[in-house]
Amino acid sequence: MKFSLKKKLLYILGAGMIAALIGQLFTRYYLELPSLIALEARSDSKDVERVRLAMDQLVKKIAVSSIEYGTWDDTFEAVTMNPEEPAFEKFTSINLVPSIFEALDVDGGLFVEQAGNIKYSSHLEKISSRFGPEAKLDPKSLKPDIPYPSRVPVKERLITAGFSQSNLGPVIFAASHIIPSLPPYPASRGIWIWWRLADSQVFNAVIENVQIQAAFIPIAEAAADTHLSVILEKLMASVGHLPRDNGGYLYWLFNDLSGQPMFLVKQNSDKRAFAENLVSESVVIGFAISAFILIIVALFFSRDVLGRLLHAKALMLKIIETGEYDKRLETNNSDEIDTMFTQFNQLLAYIEMQNKELKGQNQELTQLSQQDALTGIPNRRYLDEALDRCWHQSVRSKSFMSVLMIDVDYFKAYNDNYGHKAGDQVLRQIAQTLQNHLHRATDYIARYGGEEFCAILTDTSPEAAFNVGERLCRAIQDLNIKHEASGSVQVVTVSIGISAITPTEIVVDFDLIKAADEALYMSKERGRNQVNLNRTESYGNGSQSIGS
Ligand code: GH3
Ligand code: MG
Ligand code: MG
Repeated sequence: MKFSLKKKLLYILGAGMIAALIGQLFTRYYLELPSLIALEARSDSKDVERVRLAMDQLVKKIAVSSIEYGTWDDTFEAVTMNPEEPAFEKFTSINLVPSIFEALDVDGGLFVEQAGNIKYSSHLEKISSRFGPEAKLDPKSLKPDIPYPSRVPVKERLITAGFSQSNLGPVIFAASHIIPSLPPYPASRGIWIWWRLADSQVFNAVIENVQIQAAFIPIAEAAADTHLSVILEKLMASVGHLPRDNGGYLYWLFNDLSGQPMFLVKQNSDKRAFAENLVSESVVIGFAISAFILIIVALFFSRDVLGRLLHAKALMLKIIETGEYDKRLETNNSDEIDTMFTQFNQLLAYIEMQNKELKGQNQELTQLSQQDALTGIPNRRYLDEALDRCWHQSVRSKSFMSVLMIDVDYFKAYNDNYGHKAGDQVLRQIAQTLQNHLHRATDYIARYGGEEFCAILTDTSPEAAFNVGERLCRAIQDLNIKHEASGSVQVVTVSIGISAITPTEIVVDFDLIKAADEALYMSKERGRNQVNLNRTESYGNGSQSIGS
């Protein structure tokens, strides 16, 4: 397929725009959106981590209290006592009272002897601020069983601390060895447990602290929900949290100490900080910039390259059509195109010069073809053309025109007597003299052939022509060229015959030359060196002669 440069440029521009758009969309879809989503996911993970850490802080707080009570000489003593002993009662009445529970932010506490018997257990009803006997934590219900390696390594003395299911439901607890406050530590006399119900109050405190909205949904409750059960299934099969859903929720599992899921956490994520659609502002702006650059490039190309080439093409076509080789392409020598144009201009200049030369040569040739080689005056070919021109001119101006036939007298004899070369010289002299005696611009003289010359006079009456003839006759005689073989005056002379007519349009084939020849014949007959006029008023009326 053939396309013009202009069309090609348009196609390239279109293709460039499409490519720019595809590039923008590609970048948006494969680079920008994924990296934004990855950034968001990282921020979401951090949010989840913050909630987890806040939960850990909660455990730590109870763990610290647990260690304090476990690693204490008073506890160490009390645990060996009989609960009915006044000393034991004294210990509990001072150290295990509602205000202490409230200060430590726990729901209950208990001694468990090394053998596993509960030595002491109390539970504070938060609402009444009174101990209630009914909520007794059974340490055996805690999963995993105590003792266990420490999960929250506050100090070596801690056995374990964390979240667990229990006979009371989900709890946070911390279990510590009961040992003296100072080393060397004897064997533990049992464990001290502080615990707290993992209820909504706990979570609300945590969430308030980290300023993240979240709901802790017990696993059993989540499993019963059609929507949440699907999420649960997904979470069981994966690690960490699920990517945020369309509602902007993050789901993750909160496990107990034994690694079993305790709660499904439904956490509100921050509002999405970026638009998700493919055609974003960045795509539109990117495309607009690309399109702008493309258009600028195309405009530059169109103006600085294409425009100049098309202009040059048009000029070249015009030059070829008209042959005006003096035209030049515009250049300012600034780039490769200008260099090319300059070279082209040089070529044009060369052609122009050659053309001029050719024209001159042609003119010379034309002139030469109309010039007589011997005498240098116009030849018969020139005269024939002039005769034609003068005829039409006289028809238009309704004026006389005359033809003078001039023949050298006894010229054969001159040649015979003085030689052909001398004869040539005489012919040159006569030609020059005849020319010199015809002054008007409308007078024509030519060598008609051999020793005969012919003159045309326009806008001249027969009488005036006759006078001119006489003048010419005299001028030649006055040259005074010696001609001893002449039959008359011993110098070179000429005889002249004149024909004159007022041409009209109906006179088409009158032969002025023939008529002049007839008059010339008369001049020869009547003794030479004289002029005779063959006057024709109009064609067919015969001729009338005036002798010299
Ligand atoms: P007339 O008076 O009757 O005209 O006699 P003429 O001798 O001039 O006439 P003719 O026709 O018998 O001879 C013409 C001569 O002119 C013949 C020739 O030798 C001579 N002639 C013609 N052309 C040239 C030329 O170019 N150079 C020279 N030297 N002579 C020429
Ligand atoms: Mg002759
Ligand atoms: Mg002659």
